[in-house]
Amino acid sequence: MSDTLTHLAGLPVCVRGRLVQRCAICGARMVDSDGRYILRTKDGSPGPPHWPLGAMVQVRAGSQTEYVVLPDSGKLPEDNCLEFA
Ligand SMILES: [Zn+2]
Repeated sequence: MSDTLTHLAGLPVCVRGRLVQRCAICGARMVDSDGRYILRTKDGSPGPPHWPLGAMVQVRAGSQTEYVVLPDSGKLPEDNCLEFA
């Protein structure tokens, strides 16, 4: 089993000032501006408000979860989240 999982960034939605972005495949929450899912750079400073729409975002779980935007290859990577949909 892979130690990474790749999600497809869905449409970011802002309702009453709260920004939420879910995976377009499995529905996992990728961004929530309520404080639980805020993007940060490696040095801890604030990152962009959300992932680019349609970006393949690979998640590596560990002591500190890391996220990487994969280059667009035109196909789903092997560690995609389809089985969680
Ligand atoms: Zn997903």
